[in-house]
Amino acid sequence: MQAKVYNLGDIVEMKKAHPCGTNEWKIIRLGADIRIKCVGCQHSVMIPRREFEKKMKKVLVQANPEDN
Ligand SMILES: [Zn+2]
Repeated sequence: MQAKVYNLGDIVEMKKAHPCGTNEWKIIRLGADIRIKCVGCQHSVMIPRREFEKKMKKVLVQANPEDN
């Protein structure tokens, strides 16, 4: 299986949409835990990296590296 590539600031799609109906999340913190923020309602959640990689479906928008 191909490794998922993601970076700070990327917009990602998860396997489950947020209850608000949006399925776009922005990566706002990268570490042992990853914090993602719902683009629709600004709700943010922190999840362990391993769990994030299981739940993340794909990267929708790659952040411009110059913005980081
Ligand atoms: Zn939401």
